[in-house]
Amino acid sequence: MNDRSPMDAMMKGMMGRCPNCGVGSLFDGFLKVRDTCPHCGEALYHHRADDAPPYIVMSFVGIFVVAVMFYVEIAYEPALWIHAAIFLPLTIVLSLVLLRPTKGLMVGLQWAKRMHGFNPNGAGGDA
Ligand SMILES: [Zn+2]
Repeated sequence: MNDRSPMDAMMKGMMGRCPNCGVGSLFDGFLKVRDTCPHCGEALYHHRADDAPPYIVMSFVGIFVVAVMFYVEIAYEPALWIHAAIFLPLTIVLSLVLLRPTKGLMVGLQWAKRMHGFNPNGAGGDA
């Protein structure tokens, strides 16, 4: 039944491409997923990425930034304003840079696993 490679679909999604053909653009805007692929016509509106991408990005960025911040504090003991000047922008930039690929990854995974409406037989999730 499952002829779709999750790794392949997630990589295509991370690159912002349709998980089916890898050519058409997945996004119509920064985070809005297209209803259908402009290249192959695959229906993409079935995705239910919801809160998963921001949750994953928040967890990863939080762990990474705090770890680096602790290292910098222990190694260099900079003033607090230097911490703020480095790590606040770093947190914002990393979150924005990682959010779109993470959403593409989630849509690709859902497509490959035929979750939600991606299953043409209607089984395997909510409509
Ligand atoms: Zn496509």
